[in-house]
Amino acid sequence: MTTQAYGNTAADQPLGPLQIERREPGPRDVAIDILFCGVCHSDLHTARGEWDGTLYPCVPGHEIVGRVTAVGGEVDRFKVGDVVGVGCMVDSCGTCPSCHDGEEQYCTGSGFVGTYNGEDAHLGGHTFGGYSKHVVVDQDFVLRIGHDEKDLAAVAPLLCAGITTYSPLRHWKVGPGQKVGVVGLGGLGHMGVKIAAAMGADVTVFTTSPDKREDALKLGAKDVIVSRDPDAMKAAEGQFDFILNTVAAPLDLDPYLAALKRDGTMVLVGVPADPHKSPDVGNLIFRRRALAGSLIGGIRETQEMLDFCHEHGLTADIEMIRMDEINTAYDRMVKSDVKYRFVIDMASL
Ligand code: NAP
Ligand code: ZN
Repeated sequence: MTTQAYGNTAADQPLGPLQIERREPGPRDVAIDILFCGVCHSDLHTARGEWDGTLYPCVPGHEIVGRVTAVGGEVDRFKVGDVVGVGCMVDSCGTCPSCHDGEEQYCTGSGFVGTYNGEDAHLGGHTFGGYSKHVVVDQDFVLRIGHDEKDLAAVAPLLCAGITTYSPLRHWKVGPGQKVGVVGLGGLGHMGVKIAAAMGADVTVFTTSPDKREDALKLGAKDVIVSRDPDAMKAAEGQFDFILNTVAAPLDLDPYLAALKRDGTMVLVGVPADPHKSPDVGNLIFRRRALAGSLIGGIRETQEMLDFCHEHGLTADIEMIRMDEINTAYDRMVKSDVKYRFVIDMASL
């Protein structure tokens, strides 16, 4: 079926209205009318061609919340009328060791199928994301949402920003008694602060924006370090068990590695278009520190994160926009001017 969407046809073109095709639901499919879609920095990197490999027309959006309108004959976990979520993936091989372990984001079979810019095995061509009215997804990649209906717009960002921060915090066993740093208070960063605090950690925000201090404290941080202040960075040396780095731009990683304790780990989740400068090996070896990376999270863990957030009353802090405000929202995101996630009201499309 033809569906109304919003995207661009080349890296240097703004996003605008487009028509796309969605498949008719097959036996295992869930058809969803999209209510809200969060705006991730990855949408911007992709639409503007900052990473290699964008396929046009590009319809971004992988923080989707919507209502089920139809289900295939074999679908047993969802019914018409349910409120559901879709995140960054819509399929994977299902049989490789990573898929077997519920870590579909690391699928080594065919690789996971991205919600947008992935290979569309059903219709050919590539997948189109959540900046659209309607989507059809295999039930194994659809999430249950327990939050109140009034919170649904603020739940949408959990589908990427939530899981991308929850997964490494869980994997590296962050909890009470640990000092955790979150670098960059944007969409991912503000969820990282909320989730790490809810896990019981003592959280410090590293920010380039001194005016975000009050917000950081309200979100659950105990302390704020302005990363452009060399004295403050010096004072942070050797203090942290774990640092989650969400910055979307090339960065000098050394002061952050130096801020780790012996055996501390810094996990990079930000994916800048240009690489970070290679870090100083000395900072790593003399304290047995680790530098690691993490990609979103598996479907099972995404459900666990949604349930954790529901239980702890966590949602994103959002600014709702109309679909036709997306280009301005991207420009503001580049300037770190987001508090703290834009969410598109899809009724405006
Ligand atoms: P965002 O909302 O734009 O936040 C990024 C934050 O980084 C900014 O708010 C800013 O925080 C800080 N920052 C920006 N430019 C900086 C600079 N030049 N130097 C230092 N700090 C800077 O972006 P997001 O949606 O959270 O995404 C962040 C990154 O994660 C993107 O690269 C995105 O593609 C990537 N991502 C990765 C995954 C994954 O699975 N690994 C998933 C989703 C997104 P302050 O104002 O506090 O400094
Ligand atoms: Zn994302």
